[in-house]
Amino acid sequence: MTARVLVVDDILSNVKLLEAKLTAEYFEVVTAFNGLEAIEKTAECAPDIILLDVMMPGMDGFEACRRIKQNPKTAHVPVVMVTALDQPSDRVAGLDAGADDFLTKPVDDAALFARVRSLVRLKMMTDELRMRETTGQSMGLVDPAETLLENAPPGRILVIEDRPESVAWFKGALEAGNDMVATDTFEEAMVRVRGGDFDLIVVSLGMRGFDGLRLCSQLRSLPQGRNVPILVLVSEGERRKLTQALEMGVNDYLTRPVDKNELIARVRTQLRKKRYADHLRHNVQLSLEMAITDQLTGLHNRRYMERHLANLVATANSGHRPLAFLIMDIDYFKSVNDTHGHDIGDEILREFATRIGANVRGIDLACRYGGEEFVVVMPDTDVSFAYAVAERLRRSVETTPFVISRDPGKLSITISIGIAGSEGAADTAEALLHRADQALYRAKRDGRNRVVADAA
Ligand code: GH3
Ligand code: MG
Ligand code: MG
Repeated sequence: MTARVLVVDDILSNVKLLEAKLTAEYFEVVTAFNGLEAIEKTAECAPDIILLDVMMPGMDGFEACRRIKQNPKTAHVPVVMVTALDQPSDRVAGLDAGADDFLTKPVDDAALFARVRSLVRLKMMTDELRMRETTGQSMGLVDPAETLLENAPPGRILVIEDRPESVAWFKGALEAGNDMVATDTFEEAMVRVRGGDFDLIVVSLGMRGFDGLRLCSQLRSLPQGRNVPILVLVSEGERRKLTQALEMGVNDYLTRPVDKNELIARVRTQLRKKRYADHLRHNVQLSLEMAITDQLTGLHNRRYMERHLANLVATANSGHRPLAFLIMDIDYFKSVNDTHGHDIGDEILREFATRIGANVRGIDLACRYGGEEFVVVMPDTDVSFAYAVAERLRRSVETTPFVISRDPGKLSITISIGIAGSEGAADTAEALLHRADQALYRAKRDGRNRVVADAA
């Protein structure tokens, strides 16, 4: 794996040492010598990870970290504090500033690479989501996800540990509002993760009954466990296990004896990141939905209809099932716009879409085809049934005037509808569409306010 690493330290020899180690492992290294420069380089060079000294003249590492994490453009870049301070209180101060982890000076190579690789790998997973979300944002489809320093939501936490005293301590240490469940068997852990939506899973790596690492790898392969952060508990002497856990994609760890404040801070960080990633995923999903939805009416748009119609026709053909296609067009719609204005025209379009929705079944696909033309695709439906549906809709439009928000309060509207049915194995979506369009043309030509079925 290669990645761009920003190394920040006020002492040149420290920078050179880390730079040499990282370059030897084929990382690309960028350097900075104080807090302000670190912030600038972060924005400029888009590093994949920052190794940040704590004690620097002027702005210290904590403050630089806080500012990087407060900026939505740089908040997602992982920060590892490199420090001679190794008290739990120092770690908590760093975590509160948004740091992702700590390395103690002098830096141990194995710990350095394990942590850098793990954090870069985790970042790459959210980068893909962030990129897609940014596209959604630039299209004006969704609001940006919040940054990572906003207050942490309480969450549902699953603790997997076989020492009762440790479970009890955990429960007492967690912040109020969190909802904790504990188990000490492999099977129950799997069942719980499959069934529950947890925000964080804590796995002890020192259990007697089974291998915690194996459990982590199994949890990661569950669809319901893939996006839940895992925090492992390790003892001082379990370096190798920790390295393996990080390689496996575990998100964070706590070393026994666990400091209460550090536990709180790390749990908070993971819950915050989880919420951020959930928000990103939600936004990506939303922009996907919006990309196939007509904004004015909420019906599917033409792009979606065209894609989906091909599938529906193929399914109907292969199963020798009928398929009906309706194309509807509002009569003299241009004069509605000309007389009452474009916004009243929009009101009519919305109301018409609602009426279409009320007249078709759940399996029917209703779309705005463009302008004042709408389409309904009816699977498993022959032309005579479709004709009855179309005729009912046409009559209800004719007999029940549309309510509008300006004088005269109501408008009489009529529609014309063309229908075509699929014609067996050789039929295509384009041909079907063309026949329905021809039928619509005849409905218009013959005086409008009528339904015409393709005569084939
Ligand atoms: P016909 O009976 O032959 O269908 O006549 P028509 O006036 O309905 O047909 P024409 O295709 O000439 O006009 C369609 C009009 O629909 C023209 C266009 O301004 C209007 N239109 C298209 N999209 C929208 C829209 O999103 N909102 C509004 N208000 N009007 C739209
Ligand atoms: Mg029209
Ligand atoms: Mg038209």
